[in-house]
Amino acid sequence: MSPQAGATTSPVSGYGSSDMLDVRELSKSYGDVVALDDAGFAVHPGRITGFLGPNGAGKTTAMRAIFGLVTPDRGDISWQGGPVGPAERMRFGYMPEQRGLYPRMEVGRQLTYFARLHGVDRAAGRKAALQWLERLGLSERANSRVEALSHGNQQRVQLAAALVHNPELVVLDEPFSGLDPLAVTTMSAVLRELASEGAAVLLSSHQLDLVEDVCEDVVIVNRGRIVLTGAIHDLRQSHPHRVLEVGFLGPAPDWHLGIDGVNLLESRNGRAKYLVPREAQPQALMTAASRGGEIVHFAFGAPPLTAIFVDAVGTAPDRVETP
Ligand code: ATP
Repeated sequence: MSPQAGATTSPVSGYGSSDMLDVRELSKSYGDVVALDDAGFAVHPGRITGFLGPNGAGKTTAMRAIFGLVTPDRGDISWQGGPVGPAERMRFGYMPEQRGLYPRMEVGRQLTYFARLHGVDRAAGRKAALQWLERLGLSERANSRVEALSHGNQQRVQLAAALVHNPELVVLDEPFSGLDPLAVTTMSAVLRELASEGAAVLLSSHQLDLVEDVCEDVVIVNRGRIVLTGAIHDLRQSHPHRVLEVGFLGPAPDWHLGIDGVNLLESRNGRAKYLVPREAQPQALMTAASRGGEIVHFAFGAPPLTAIFVDAVGTAPDRVETP
């Protein structure tokens, strides 16, 4: 996937390519509210794509449209080169933001039921249900009602429900929200495994550190428009800024104040990170920094996904107001 800023109407690469999910020119309004505005992007098999955007940007609407739960005003969605209909959706898995489990049904029975809904026979469905419960550390809860499980464990069941029929495309709406660190690790490992087995994975999240860790590609949406797509590695390497990390013998001084284009990202225990223009001269920066104190560490790195997000959208995800 090649980086593309300001994409609005066409997928990033391989238009018409036969194996991917291809969302084209998708528009949807609710009265005066424009939820999606000519949104186009692609999700590739074997890769995990992070779907990012401020609250109310249109992520859930786009995901729901893939599953026919929202009827777009315009645009189309194709999978493996053909239109997406009920037969294709049998091979898709969806983990919705609003959890869609039956609270009173036992966990094991519920998963078998979801497998059956996707065309898996009873014996194979039961086997897959038990395998997923084991994989997610829930074997002992197979006979518990969903409502008796904690929030995090219900979320694990919701994940299993999305995967129990071995889907080729998996779409997860904020799968990490509310999970403890162990559950996050399990979720990340499961998603990586799915992609390595060839599934196309699309997930939305506001936790950019997790997205950076788990995803290869990103699609950034703002006010219904796709504003940036690409491979995270490429976007970080081609970003006009770099991160400069400086370690000082004592507390980090404010040497950067008044230097054009140098912005402090964080400072802790004498180590500070700054966003600096890619073209800034290392020697000039080192000279300026050393005027403030003795330097024990000085290194450049690629900017974090947060910096790319802020550039694309204009604000950090947790500082965005719902429109
Ligand atoms: P979040 O990150 O907060 O989950 P999102 O990016 O998923 O947000 P959507 O839920 O797709 O955003 O909403 C996009 C816009 O469409 C918002 O302004 C929302 O209020 C509006 N919207 C979504 N669904 C409906 C609906 N059924 N009726 C009216 N407006 C809606």
